[in-house]
Amino acid sequence: MEVVTIKSKFLRNLFDQNTYVLKNENEAIIIDAGADVDDVEREVQGLNVLAILITHIHFDHVWNLEEYIKKFDTNIYISSGQENRFSNSRLNASFMLHNDFRIDMTNAKIKHYDGTLHLGSFDIEIIETPGHTKDGVSLLIDGNLFSGDTLFNGNIGRTDLDDSSEIEMAESLKKLKETEFDVLYPGHFKSCFREEALKTIESFLNY
Ligand SMILES: [Zn+2]
Repeated sequence: MEVVTIKSKFLRNLFDQNTYVLKNENEAIIIDAGADVDDVEREVQGLNVLAILITHIHFDHVWNLEEYIKKFDTNIYISSGQENRFSNSRLNASFMLHNDFRIDMTNAKIKHYDGTLHLGSFDIEIIETPGHTKDGVSLLIDGNLFSGDTLFNGNIGRTDLDDSSEIEMAESLKKLKETEFDVLYPGHFKSCFREEALKTIESFLNY
């Protein structure tokens, strides 16, 4: 499996958001939807796009999702009961931009995470990791952990937003500490190996 990181050009990379394309033979999966659709399309050319997996519905992670829906005509996975985030600027955090960002999901094929996902040649373990947001998930795929805004290389996600919880964040970090993975692919900034990621977790759990 190949992992391609595509940086969102949104606001001149102010947020340094990562959109990931996972490729395996003639199949691909997209994780989050911040990057420009053209950049993603180039990566998945000739491949069967099996799904778009959203780590959490914050504006920077779904900034171009409407374009993706039109272009890729594939299933969109989110946590259950969270659709209102697409049209709520407090919950999708776009209030920070003084922007009433909303996505029209009328024609979207929405699916809800429910345990392990088997998509084509991809086995995906869904780890519920609330704390930064209620709907946060981390995705374990072939030894790679896609942690959204729960865990970064050297930091953790902020817990001062509308539906954040420091207590849930600590529980989620403990879960990730117990998770066997080789490489961390966070929702922002650079990836790192497990050892580095564990140091970050430890420093926050012991704080
Ligand atoms: Zn976020």
